[in-house]
Amino acid sequence: MDKAVSIPEIFGSAVFSEDVMRQTLPPDVFASLINTVENGTEIDPGIADVVASAMKDWAIKLGATHFTHWFQPLTGVTAEKHDSFVSPAEHGRAIMEFSGKELIKGEPDASSFPSGGLRATFEARGYTSWDPASFAFVKDGSLYIPTVFCSYTGESLDTKTPLLRSIDALNTEGVRLLRALGDKEVSRITPTVGAEQEYFLVDADDFKARKDLFFCGRTLFGAPAVKGQELDDHYFGALRPKVSAFMKALDYELWTLGICSKTKHNEVAPAQHELAPVFCSTNRAVDQNLLTMEYMKRLAPKFGMECLLAEKPFDGINGSGKHNNWSLSTDTGRNLLKPGRRPAENKEFLTVLAAVIKAVDDYQDLLRISAASAGNDHRLGGNEAPPAIISIFLGEELEDIVDSLIAGSKYENRESKYMTLGLRSVPNIRQDKTDRNRTSPFAFTGNKFEFRMVGSSQNIAFANIVLNTAVAKSFADFADVLEGAKDFDAALSELLGKTFRDHSRILFSGNSYSAEWEKEAKARGLSVFKSAPEAYAHFTDEKNVKLFSKFGVMTETEMNSRRSIFFENYRKIVGIEARTMVEMTVRDILPAVSKYVTALSESVTARRAVIAGAPAAMEEEVIGKLSALMSEAYDAANVLAAAEKTACSKATEEDSANAYLTAVIPKMAELRSKVDAMEVLTSREYWPMPTYGDLTFRV
Ligand code: ADP
Ligand code: MG
Repeated sequence: MDKAVSIPEIFGSAVFSEDVMRQTLPPDVFASLINTVENGTEIDPGIADVVASAMKDWAIKLGATHFTHWFQPLTGVTAEKHDSFVSPAEHGRAIMEFSGKELIKGEPDASSFPSGGLRATFEARGYTSWDPASFAFVKDGSLYIPTVFCSYTGESLDTKTPLLRSIDALNTEGVRLLRALGDKEVSRITPTVGAEQEYFLVDADDFKARKDLFFCGRTLFGAPAVKGQELDDHYFGALRPKVSAFMKALDYELWTLGICSKTKHNEVAPAQHELAPVFCSTNRAVDQNLLTMEYMKRLAPKFGMECLLAEKPFDGINGSGKHNNWSLSTDTGRNLLKPGRRPAENKEFLTVLAAVIKAVDDYQDLLRISAASAGNDHRLGGNEAPPAIISIFLGEELEDIVDSLIAGSKYENRESKYMTLGLRSVPNIRQDKTDRNRTSPFAFTGNKFEFRMVGSSQNIAFANIVLNTAVAKSFADFADVLEGAKDFDAALSELLGKTFRDHSRILFSGNSYSAEWEKEAKARGLSVFKSAPEAYAHFTDEKNVKLFSKFGVMTETEMNSRRSIFFENYRKIVGIEARTMVEMTVRDILPAVSKYVTALSESVTARRAVIAGAPAAMEEEVIGKLSALMSEAYDAANVLAAAEKTACSKATEEDSANAYLTAVIPKMAELRSKVDAMEVLTSREYWPMPTYGDLTFRV
């Protein structure tokens, strides 16, 4: 890749994009398909054969021999099963075939995917069905067809189905609201998303030498390195050559897949980095983020590294999240969250803003749940990540506007100022109207909201399902009021005043990391869920079931199945971690420390053979401390193993998850403290795995 490659030429070259469709499909078929892609209209089954054949011919030119329906079961990762285009023909020959039927419908066996109880009641059959709104692409010799995944009886078994339904609901209610506001032109509203992705890179050999990284993707032991992130010298620091080469290769792969990777930089923690793409429609943004994560993982080893997507790979330094930037755009090219020069007079903006605030306040529990996972529990509420409590940061200007709307007083517009740096050769720059608040979990950032709670390894679909549906509900409620209003202006200002007043508790501009905020949030009646299981328990609260069923996003059955899967995933992840800790302790760490202790005593014996009674204070002290710690660690490992067994045997997923939370995780912490104490006393030569210092600084 040393000679310059034409990026416009490679961009999207592996994607069956609008351009490719136009070139390869008859005009009427193209028009019909693009109508489905852009306006979400029902696909005309009559065109499927033509599209399938064009896709196949195009994909074969790119080296494809197979096709696969690509879907998002509730495992959190994507799934695929490949079938070749090859079909037997006369005289022992073969032809390449791909029919409309194969494009539209697939039938993977659903029995081994999580169904959260749906399977007990229904058959194991599962169906995948083509999602034309997310483009097909070629990867590793296969044509990938984005699909939804459902059970024999039509219950969704994936994340894409409810996402598409939520996008639909938002569109329907949004257009209704805009009509009520007097807009006659907009016929489609699309939620847009840009997901900033954080990740760590560690040396591949170091990764393999640690069972915790290998099995769990995060360290379960590790004394802090002598240097952490205190100097802030990694943030935006110069990229190390290996990292830079990785990022470059990653960009090329993503561009080829039509993913507009835009920004890359070093993050705060040593070995931590970030990638941000240009935003696009939510459906595609979700697929693109999943591909981005996949390519990060698969490319790192080519550069002698491994990519860690876990939310908290290392204790004591920053974890990784995903900033879900979210906004709404219209088919007439407007961003509904763009305040314009005079936001106080921008009725449409204020109405949409009010709708988002109401949605986030009413469904703060669901948003919290959408970011709740075993891995993210170690991050949320730490001192670097957003807290586990949902609140909204608007910035000074919007806060003042909201205040004046609540008070019913007149608002004086502020003009943005220029900053004068006092340098003659440097142009003066216009100041943003507000500074940023990095501690807010849900912040307005100029023309979009940034939801910062989502964990780095999570599928962003769920957060967007919640956002879209909750905002659709606000839109519907507002439209109900405005459509019937006799005096529209009065009704609107009353609606806005009332909404901002009723939901002002969710607005917070202070430091969300502080302990005082937690107290205040409780006093304000905001939901405070410190752990994932606490949050999950509320998923099927009546108001939440009502929300999702009202808009046809999820049925109560589908919600119950997801609720069960939340708990199941949680307990399985913590279970694997607990068992990994026990195994590392008993089979690797204790034997290594024991050897070191033996070496120390042999050294004393050897010395005293030469000089009787030679001093051995160091050895004696270290042997004493390590011997005690070895026994304690051994006991702690046994206690942990027993607690894990008990938690695992609970009757329901929920009970089991709660047992892991309350009875296993504290035992993991106890064992860790013993092991970390041994680490700092044990010779490097004997310690059986790379240390925090190696992992975070050796790349
Ligand atoms: P910031 O400086 O506030 O982080 P950037 O312009 O760097 O803003 O954007 C951060 C992320 O937000 C990018 O992934 C970008 O594509 C995304 N983004 C920008 N505008 C929108 C929008 N209207 N809708 C969704 N995401 C957006
Ligand atoms: Mg940002």
